[in-house]
Amino acid sequence: MIDLHTHSTCSDGTDSPEALALAGDALGLTALALTDHDTLAGLDAFLAQQPRVRTRLVPGVELSCAYLGRPFHLLGLCFHPGDPAFRARLDGMRLRRERRNLGIAGRLTALGVPFRVEEAAAFAQGSIVSRMHFAQALAARGEVASAEEAFRRYIGDTGPAHVPFEPLSPGEAAAWVREAGGVAIVAHPGRFGGRSFRWEEAILELKAMGVQGLEAYYGDYGPAEQAYFLDLAQQAGMLPSGGSDYHGAYKPGVALGRGRGSLQVPDAVLAALEAASA
Ligand code: AMP
Ligand code: MN
Ligand code: MN
Ligand code: MN
Repeated sequence: MIDLHTHSTCSDGTDSPEALALAGDALGLTALALTDHDTLAGLDAFLAQQPRVRTRLVPGVELSCAYLGRPFHLLGLCFHPGDPAFRARLDGMRLRRERRNLGIAGRLTALGVPFRVEEAAAFAQGSIVSRMHFAQALAARGEVASAEEAFRRYIGDTGPAHVPFEPLSPGEAAAWVREAGGVAIVAHPGRFGGRSFRWEEAILELKAMGVQGLEAYYGDYGPAEQAYFLDLAQQAGMLPSGGSDYHGAYKPGVALGRGRGSLQVPDAVLAALEAASA
């Protein structure tokens, strides 16, 4: 069993990169990828655990893109973690995020909830201040009853205080990953669009943009959704990937390796991704 989608304290998870590597080993995972949002900051500490753990530790990242006018996440896996061009491009992502975060704070303030980015940053331990930290700060202040309510009322993808990133297209993000020797994967396609979204068309467009696979196994999917996306990957000639999207205590109920309980990503998934990586 493997898990190719997890977050550490370097983005919006609550486990350190080292703790994640050790937890994967304790669980008996064959392989584990760290895929923090828009940063490689945790990878050195994560990969440095390799001689100490039997689990194969895989470099990863989850890039914030826009597709069809909506937030879209692209996973990069199996790239060369020290690639200088990729590192420089991710520094640019940090600046996009900082500008976006100022926008969210401004919208909250205009909505009658005076907010400074520093309040969210106080909940972040790494280089990334994400909406998860805004949600924690709003809940801690008593502005909302829970982080979940902060997303529902203010900062979720369709919320009145949501501000998108300066858009990065899936094609551009896929090129970044591939030029660093990695494979580019659509993250959690089941969370994009709605029930009526026509994936059969979109997946071919994304494939033409250079995206190579899709997350067919995912922590939040039920059996029908998993079967649908495995079939879609096969029909479109895309590689299936899979992971829990573990965030530690920030996503209670989503367990490392097991997602909501029934997730089981086969080892063969990683072998195919590695064969496609440069
Ligand atoms: P950001 O990268 O700053 O846009 O934040 C996105 C992150 O916020 C996601 O990866 C999730 O961890 C979290 N998130 C987004 N929408 C929701 C939601 N509706 N409920 C809970 N968490 C969410
Ligand atoms: Mn997240
Ligand atoms: Mn995501
Ligand atoms: Mn994720």
